[in-house]
Amino acid sequence: MSEKKILLLPGDGIGPEVMNQVEKLMNFLADRSSFSYSTETKLVGGASYDKHGTPLQDEVLTDAFNYDAILFGAVGGPKWDGVERTLRPEAGLLRLRKELDLYANLRPAVVFDALSEASTLNSELVLGLDLMIVRELTAGCYFGQPRGIEELPDGTRRGFDTEVYTQPEIERVTRVAFELARKRKNLLHSVEKSNVMESGIFWREIVTKLHESEGKNISLEHMYADNCAMQLVRNPKQFDVIVTNNLFGDLLSDCAAMLTGSLGMLPSASLGENNSNGFRRALYEPVHGSAPDIAGKGLANPIAMILSFSMMLRYSFGDKKNSSLIENAVQNVLKNDFRTKDIMQNGKVLLSTDDLGDSIIDELDKHT
Ligand code: NAD
Repeated sequence: MSEKKILLLPGDGIGPEVMNQVEKLMNFLADRSSFSYSTETKLVGGASYDKHGTPLQDEVLTDAFNYDAILFGAVGGPKWDGVERTLRPEAGLLRLRKELDLYANLRPAVVFDALSEASTLNSELVLGLDLMIVRELTAGCYFGQPRGIEELPDGTRRGFDTEVYTQPEIERVTRVAFELARKRKNLLHSVEKSNVMESGIFWREIVTKLHESEGKNISLEHMYADNCAMQLVRNPKQFDVIVTNNLFGDLLSDCAAMLTGSLGMLPSASLGENNSNGFRRALYEPVHGSAPDIAGKGLANPIAMILSFSMMLRYSFGDKKNSSLIENAVQNVLKNDFRTKDIMQNGKVLLSTDDLGDSIIDELDKHT
């Protein structure tokens, strides 16, 4: 396997702690398998602001295009609460996503057997759950123009955003969903509100046309977003891949996240078009933030970060073997009753961030 160039952006709070666990894992895989890599670590978020006065230096952004994939920790914290909005740590991440045009946000919701009791739903409903939400990330009403707050002639005010999607914006995110569905169970739900929104009617029309021309072998269902929210808590296992717009994806992916129990378990990927090196532009990151309340205490759960790396192996590098090995190792560590504090249950063994990271490597050691 050719050497993969990976950019590491650990960020703030627990970001560097959980990133350390992935670095140990990469080292281990390079020793034991054909995985070959080089990394560079750069500052982002509050750490970058403290040193350079900006949450994302221009040269880091320009450089980001030259890597085969990016692994991101988390940014932010109360230390930077007083900083002007455009220079806040989170602005660094938003700029990175925007400039790299990472339009497809993949949020898997997987329930590990040993944690099915941790879900707020009855464990029968979530045991074995494995679904993927593909959220459009760079368009829709979070970006649409016009937007604003304005005064009306009668002296009252109004606030407004514009939900707008172009045909290419819908097509490219749908293609990503097709690709994923083909690699999974060939089942795709496209979610919108075509019953009440013009943009929803348009979304459904474009997805249907693209399905006819490029996705015939995939089983496609259309669903209204409100029904989808209800179905996610009623019978989540009916879904495999869901594709939806930015706003509905924001809400539905958080809803699906709760099915799995803990924020510390959830990875994500944001994908764009291909780079000149032939790799799709891609940033992998845990769903959680920088968790300043537990930073530096060895309490952080590294699994979301480790599973983000596992997604990188699968989706950027086509390395299903190592990706599955990591997922199985996580499954086994949980079966062996090892836990960090956020997923601790009675009678289980509490481990630090570092020790849980090591126990995942110990598990991998048994199978590689
Ligand atoms: P958060 O995700 O950082 O934390 C929410 C709660 O979950 C906290 O109690 C935290 O201790 C816990 N938690 C989160 N990740 C965990 C892990 N891996 N292991 C164990 N427990 C974990 O969200 P927040 O508290 O709302 O935000 C804190 C900071 O992070 C803010 O500055 C926010 O803007 C930023 N943030 C960044 C990102 C990102 O970088 N992508 C995402 C969300 C929030």
